[in-house]
Amino acid sequence: MVRTRFAPSPTGFLHIGGLRTALFSYLFARHNGGIFILRIEDTDRTRYIEEAMTDIMESLKWVGIEWDEGPDIGGPYAPYKQSERKDIYLQHAEELIKRGNAYKCFCSQERLEKLREEQRKRGEKIGYDRHCRNLSEEDIKRYESENKPYVIRLKAPLSGETNFNDLIRGKITVSNETLDDIVLIKSDGFPTYHLANIVDDHLMRITHVIRGEEWISSTPKHVILYQSFGWEPPFFAHVPVILAPGGGKLSKRHGATTVKEFREKGYLSEAVLNFIALLGWSYDDKTEIFSMEDLIKYFTIEKINKASAVFSYDKLDWYNGVYIRKKSPEELLELGKPFIIKADLLTEDEIEANRDYLLKIIPLIQERIKLLSEIPEKIWFFFDRHFEIREKKELVPKGLDISQALDLLKKARKGLEKIETFTKDNIEEFIRGLMEETGFKTKQIFMPLRVAVTGTRVSPGLFETMEVLGKKRVLDRISKAIYYLEDRKSLE
Ligand code: GLU
Repeated sequence: MVRTRFAPSPTGFLHIGGLRTALFSYLFARHNGGIFILRIEDTDRTRYIEEAMTDIMESLKWVGIEWDEGPDIGGPYAPYKQSERKDIYLQHAEELIKRGNAYKCFCSQERLEKLREEQRKRGEKIGYDRHCRNLSEEDIKRYESENKPYVIRLKAPLSGETNFNDLIRGKITVSNETLDDIVLIKSDGFPTYHLANIVDDHLMRITHVIRGEEWISSTPKHVILYQSFGWEPPFFAHVPVILAPGGGKLSKRHGATTVKEFREKGYLSEAVLNFIALLGWSYDDKTEIFSMEDLIKYFTIEKINKASAVFSYDKLDWYNGVYIRKKSPEELLELGKPFIIKADLLTEDEIEANRDYLLKIIPLIQERIKLLSEIPEKIWFFFDRHFEIREKKELVPKGLDISQALDLLKKARKGLEKIETFTKDNIEEFIRGLMEETGFKTKQIFMPLRVAVTGTRVSPGLFETMEVLGKKRVLDRISKAIYYLEDRKSLE
């Protein structure tokens, strides 16, 4: 039975790279009919951030990653929060001491600092000199009776080599001489990442550890820990790092990096999911659109790349457009709601009251937006409360003078008023007629009308827009534009 886990440390909002790692773990479990676990690794109290755990859970759920065991729902190996498992780690560290594979180290902070300082001066590798590795029984007893603070360290093998078979990178070997006697329990009684991580992976019966490549150098230490306990290590798969568009680490200066930021910018969860799935994994090098079901069906570790993945905001935007266009107007309205409210365009009640109107507006902009956050700026002019002609000068396009523009708008008002059923086709027929009658170019006719009814030069298709706005609004707005042109002063 496959059991995988995502084991984030709650040190900040979930990064898009973390989400990708979680996804690969999740997909591998689901593809193999296994179990996916969420475990919170919160033993580093200095970096702990209160809201992080909620954010991690919300972010995972947002893209549809659901865990079978976790801190909120429990499970057979609960608790799933390491801060609640402190005693377990301590017992295990003591067990290692009994086995002769770990020891108490009473070295003071000052001694360690001095040691590092000297190593630095001599240009040596920085590391613990194993001073307490062979303390006599008496010394240990004495220090204990003096209540001298201590840490527990692993007795790493001094010679030979350690290797493991990474499912993505193949065999990895390190010489044991390069390894340190790492700390397992800190002086405050909290375990280090290494100890807690492997004890839990073992006790929670994790079969496959799928994690970011940055952990690969920790893995030999973990393998030694497994051996020291006499346990069988799980399989390891280290997934490639995600680089920023121009190389280097993806950071704030490139754009959004946390899942929360992507959500707030108006990315759809399906787009983010699809995009990150292909950061370091591919199915056949051509298929680009994958739903969660597809991913579960096709995901295998063999198809994970060794090479780093490069993040592309353009590609993500493209995906977002694709998924936005797949939505029904109802769905898109629902998704756009928080953005409309946040932009102070409409209140929740106003959205309800204008529901039918909005459902006609949405299809007009659906093809034109890449982000949900663009919705307010694309639809503001449909609402009288916000409407104004923002670019009054544009009522008079190049090639026309004020009186020609006035004449045109007056003719348009008169003609539009006569249209009984105010549909896009009827509007178009009339405007085409007007073009012939006046002999003006398309742009010269469209521009004054567009600016008059939408307030700016860029808008969805003019005829559709007029139909949705409705006859009364269109006529009122044209009248207002006529007023501005007659007034002249307002054009300045
Ligand atoms: N807590 C570690 C992290 O924050 C987990 C690494 C691992 O998956 O072993 O990434």
